[in-house]
Amino acid sequence: MADADSCPCLEESQQHTHYQHIRSLGVDETNGRFGDVELWQCKSCGRYWLRYLVEYEHLTASGRYFMGLITLEGVDNLPPEKTIPYLESLDWHFYGGSYFDGKKGKSFSHHIPVDS
Ligand SMILES: [Zn+2]
Repeated sequence: MADADSCPCLEESQQHTHYQHIRSLGVDETNGRFGDVELWQCKSCGRYWLRYLVEYEHLTASGRYFMGLITLEGVDNLPPEKTIPYLESLDWHFYGGSYFDGKKGKSFSHHIPVDS
């Protein structure tokens, strides 16, 4: 494992290959979203990441993802529909996707723009 305190995964979301896809955590159907929830792990530092992906097929540029840190213990108590409230409770999270004009970044907001 690399220096766990200063991993690039904490600065911005990395390319897919930087992560190990651990498993799917289900689909969040709140408000008809069908958001895909997955658990990823950083290959460098071993941190676990929640990754939430949603897209509205009838809307262009609606695809977006949100990522936040989580522990394995936290995952056990997280049904898919609680993912967004969990991410909103964090001090910060990552976002990206066509909804954000293809940009990505780090947000300190406690509101996640997940609905169409
Ligand atoms: Zn990392």
